[in-house]
Amino acid sequence: MLWLPLGPFHAMENQMLVIRIKIPNSGAVDWTVHSGPQLLFRDVLDVIGQVLPEATTTAFEYEDEDGDRITVRSDEEMKAMLSYYYSTVMEQQVNGQLIEPLLIFPRACKPPGERNIHGLKVNTRAGPSQHSGPAVSDSLPSNSLKKSSAELKKILANGQMNEQDIRYRDTLGHGNGGTVYKAYHVPSGKILAVKVILLDITLELQKQIMSELEILYKCDSSYIIGFYGAFFVENRISICTEFMDGGSLDVYRKIPEHVLGRIAVAVVKGLTYLWSLKILHRDVKPSNMLVNTRGQVKLCDFGVSTQLVNSIAKTYVGTNAYMAPERISGEQYGIHSDVWSLGISFMELALGRFPYPQPLQLLQCIVDEDSPVLPVGEFSEPFVHFITQCMRKQPKERPAPEELMGHPFIVQFNDGNAAVVSMWVCRALEERRSQQGPP
Ligand code: ATP
Ligand code: MG
Repeated sequence: MLWLPLGPFHAMENQMLVIRIKIPNSGAVDWTVHSGPQLLFRDVLDVIGQVLPEATTTAFEYEDEDGDRITVRSDEEMKAMLSYYYSTVMEQQVNGQLIEPLLIFPRACKPPGERNIHGLKVNTRAGPSQHSGPAVSDSLPSNSLKKSSAELKKILANGQMNEQDIRYRDTLGHGNGGTVYKAYHVPSGKILAVKVILLDITLELQKQIMSELEILYKCDSSYIIGFYGAFFVENRISICTEFMDGGSLDVYRKIPEHVLGRIAVAVVKGLTYLWSLKILHRDVKPSNMLVNTRGQVKLCDFGVSTQLVNSIAKTYVGTNAYMAPERISGEQYGIHSDVWSLGISFMELALGRFPYPQPLQLLQCIVDEDSPVLPVGEFSEPFVHFITQCMRKQPKERPAPEELMGHPFIVQFNDGNAAVVSMWVCRALEERRSQQGPP
């Protein structure tokens, strides 16, 4: 057999790697990684997210030989950290010392209100563990960190959601129909987004809404927000969904085209999925497109329950400037109307402002005037064409679902590169945090 002369550095790279995640004001959790060199930045954020579910972590730090903290917020910086770590391991090996795990310090956007919510027993074992997830002590309660999110979803969906199990935390935002809270679901240890809407309706209508919402359990797409359950308490309905730590797109400034392209791919896939289930979204707009630090993009607030939509409409009045001209005129609503809203939303996200002159006193001008067009010099030709096609005044002239998927703008960015969105979300959250200053 021919042996290749592998240096100690290469040999080290093939070994397991133990990452010790420091919990602020507490101990640490060891995570054994079997393929260290292939590790991506967002994998680490993912695991930190499980260890510190209360915090929104966008970056982490490690210490160099002088004890200075170095921030990691991209795959490039991860590589630099790993190569520094492997060099220290090599030194420890040469000197016959015990190999120290790689110590990292998560940097949270907001300090978590209640740390260590899982009642984690600290594990500071230096040796590698058998788990591929974070190593935790045996005394961990059943809501162990090792549970995958699919498992959690199942538990959440099967177990009836109820008010007693939910601890409301921050307010994430107010909409036209209700308020969205970040909440902690005690039995599962999962962070949720709970939308609470006040509705003075009969018990009969409440039942109808609940049965119409049933279809949400069947929605299973990575481009659609996960649904965990809904319940009525007195005159308000609470709808529990997956929490997205990047929030909605309406609060981001002008989004660069290479990021927006990847977001558009996800939104088009999400819409295509809903349409395949014969569900029209009916409320496509930037505030109903959510992102997270893993680079995922998901749609929320689509109209699965006619009764819920009607009840909200009766209680709250509001104009929806993202509505297609035919809808403003009271004509029939269809897939094409969702496509218009997709077009105007992405035009707004690209420009960093709503494309019609503001304030938009009368929606009638959307019906009467020519559609706005993206400035050609500033954006690529496929992008300008994509928006123009989606915003054709005649519904039938707008692209059909398969034409959207086959459009050069979508094809170009349909590369599965979640890191682009992930890094952009992390940077934006970091920026927001630094502008807000210390809590
Ligand atoms: P409208 O009521 O007109 O649809 P809206 O979409 O802004 O407007 P809501 O749907 O009530 O209003 O949402 C309020 C805000 O809560 C959103 O803008 C978004 O920032 C935040 N939000 C909603 N759902 C989630 C979620 N699952 N994860 C994180 N943030 C969320
Ligand atoms: Mg919304």
